[in-house]
Amino acid sequence: MFGMIFYKLKEIRDHKYFFRKCKRCGLYSDVADYPCGHCGKMDEKELFEFLKLREREVEGNNSLGLVFGVIAVVIFLLIMSTFF
Ligand SMILES: [Zn+2]
Repeated sequence: MFGMIFYKLKEIRDHKYFFRKCKRCGLYSDVADYPCGHCGKMDEKELFEFLKLREREVEGNNSLGLVFGVIAVVIFLLIMSTFF
């Protein structure tokens, strides 16, 4: 039982060293995977499109966070207004 857990932990720890961040696409991939599994098959144009798409995804997440922030403020103000 404990041996199994220890083995799993060792596996996870060892696995960490096999990951590196790709300089081209910025994603983590296996060292054994060279060229990188994400962008290895892409040419420069495809990579550019891929990075643009990822950037848009990050922007989308930010605006979603902003929306939730605004909702939280509105709820807070509504709660506060009931006290006055
Ligand atoms: Zn890559």
